[in-house]
Amino acid sequence: MQNQHLEQIVIVGGGTAGWIAAAAMSRLLGPAVNITLIESEAIGTVGVGEATIPQIRRLNGVLGLDEDAFVRETNGTFKLGIEFNDWGHIGERYLHTFGDAGINLASLHFHHYWLRARAEGNRASLWDYSLHHKAAYAHQFGRLDRVGNTSMTGLAYAFHFDAGLYAKYLRKHAEANGVRRVEGKVVDVALVPETGFIDSVALERGETISGDLFIDCSGFRGLLIGQALDVGYQDWSKWLPCNSAMAVGCESTQPLLPYTQATAHEAGWQWRIPLQHRTGNGHVFCDEFTTEEKATDTLLANLDGAPMGDPKRLRFTTGRREKFWHKNCVSIGLSSGFLEPLESTSIHLIQSNVSKLIELLPTRAFDPSNAAEYNRQVSHEYELVRDFLILHYHRTDRDDSEFWRYCQNMSVPDSLTDKMALFEGNGLLYKDPEDLFRESSWVQVMVGQGLMPKSFHAMANRLSSEQLTSFLADVQKLIDRATQDLPGHSDFIAAHCAADLQ
Ligand SMILES: Cc1cc2nc3c(=O)[nH]c(=O)nc-3n(C[C@H](O)[C@H](O)[C@H](O)COP(=O)(O)OP(=O)(O)OC[C@H]3O[C@@H](n4cnc5c(N)ncnc54)[C@H](O)[C@@H]3O)c2cc1C
Repeated sequence: MQNQHLEQIVIVGGGTAGWIAAAAMSRLLGPAVNITLIESEAIGTVGVGEATIPQIRRLNGVLGLDEDAFVRETNGTFKLGIEFNDWGHIGERYLHTFGDAGINLASLHFHHYWLRARAEGNRASLWDYSLHHKAAYAHQFGRLDRVGNTSMTGLAYAFHFDAGLYAKYLRKHAEANGVRRVEGKVVDVALVPETGFIDSVALERGETISGDLFIDCSGFRGLLIGQALDVGYQDWSKWLPCNSAMAVGCESTQPLLPYTQATAHEAGWQWRIPLQHRTGNGHVFCDEFTTEEKATDTLLANLDGAPMGDPKRLRFTTGRREKFWHKNCVSIGLSSGFLEPLESTSIHLIQSNVSKLIELLPTRAFDPSNAAEYNRQVSHEYELVRDFLILHYHRTDRDDSEFWRYCQNMSVPDSLTDKMALFEGNGLLYKDPEDLFRESSWVQVMVGQGLMPKSFHAMANRLSSEQLTSFLADVQKLIDRATQDLPGHSDFIAAHCAADLQ
C-alpha cells in the first residue's frame, strides 16, 4: 500500500488559532509530519479573546499542560460562568454558570422540580440551588470534582487569561514539539493550475513555502480561504447585529471575580474580564444604532479602574465561511467565521475544529469526503452556537432603545423558535447531541432572559409535597456544606498560581 500520509502542514497565522493548531497537531501527529507556522509580527494578532469555557481544560489535557503553570504564565484567573446584567430586563441579573442547578432526580432534570415548587408557592430562584452561583458570588474558587459522595457534580470551571501571553505559552509548547516558526509576511499564494489546490505561499522577503495541507489562521482577512480560494461568507448580522467593539484594559480590582460580566447597554453590551494584572473590558455594539464616540464614552464610564491606554476599535461581521475546508485548505479561527464573544465560544470553536481536523485528517489524495464531513460537522456546530447567542438578544423585555426593539422583533431561525416554544410549554428541551451547550445552559439563559415555562413535566409529581420540600432543602444543605471550606478566589490564586507581576 502506498503511503500517502501528509508530510508537510503549513499554518498561516500565529494568533490563538494558529498556535492552538500548531501545539495540538504537533503533539498528536508527532515528528512524522513537518509543521511550519508563518506569522508576521508587523501585522500582529487581534489581541482580544480572553474568556473561555470549561472545554478548554480538555485541550490543556491533550497538550499535557500543568494547570497552575498555565494560569501563572498567562496572568490568568478562574471562571465559573458569566453574569448577565440588564439583559432580560433593566436592573435584573443572572449567572449562566458552568454547572447544573440542583440534582437531577429519576432521570428528570432538576428544573422541573423547581418549577413544580414554584407552582406550589415556593419563591426560591433556580440559582438558589446552584453551587456555582453560591461560590461565584462569595468570590470563592477551589478544585472540587464532586460534592461529598453525592451525585451532585462539583465546580466546572474555565479561565480568563491574557491573549498575548496565551499565544506565547502555546508557541513554547509547539516549538518544543518541533514546530518550525517562520517570521514573515505572506504576499502571494500559488495555486496548482489543474486542481486549484494551494501549492505554496511566498513571503515578502522572497522565500517560498510549499505544503500538502494549508491551515488558514490568518484572522479576519482570510488570506488563503477567502482571498486566494475565493470561498464566500454567510452574513448572520440580521440575527446578531453587533459589528464592532471598543476594547481597553483597566487597572485590576480586588477581589478577583471568578466570573465574566456581560452588561447590556443601549446598543450592545460590555464585557469585564478579571485578570491578575488588569481587567479586560470591551463594548460590543452595532454601529447602525450608535456611534463610535458614544460607544467609547459608555465603555469608559463603566470601568472599575483607570484605563490603561486608549480604546481600540475592532470591526467584524458575524457569520461563517460557506465552506470551512476547501481543496487542501482548512480555515480555523477568525478566518473561518465569527460569532461574537457573548458566550466566550471562539477559542472553543478553534479547539473543536482542530480536533475535528485531526479526526478527519486526509491523505495527500484529499478524498473530498473528508472535507464534506468536516464542513457538515463544523457548520452544524456554528449554527447551534449561533442560536444560543441569538436567544440572549431576542428573548428580552427590553424595548428602551431602537437596538433592543429590533432584537425583540427580528425573525429568528426556526430551530430557535421551536426550542423556545418547547421550553415555554412545559420546560422541555430538545438536546442536539452536537450542541456545545447542555440543557442546563439553555435552561439558565431562557429563565434568566425571562422565558418561564407554563408547566413542568408530569414526572415531577411523583414526589409528594413533603418529599419535594425536603429534596429541595437537602440540595441547599449540600451546597452550603460544599462551599463552607472553599477558599477565596484571590487566595486560591495566591497559593497556587500567582503570576510574577514584577
Ligand atoms: C471583540 C472581540 C472579543 C473577543 N473575545 C473573545 C473571548 O472572550 N473568548 C474567546 O474565546 N474568543 C474571543 N474572541 C475571538 C478571539 O479573539 C479569536 O478567536 C482568537 O483570537 C483567534 O484569532 P485568530 O488567531 O484567528 O486571528 P488573529 O489573532 O488575528 O491572528 C492572525 C494571525 O495571522 C497573521 N497574519 C495575517 N496575515 C498575514 C500575512 N499576510 N502573512 C503572515 N502572517 C499573517 C497575523 O500576524 C497573526 O499572527 C473575540 C474576538 C473579538 C473580535
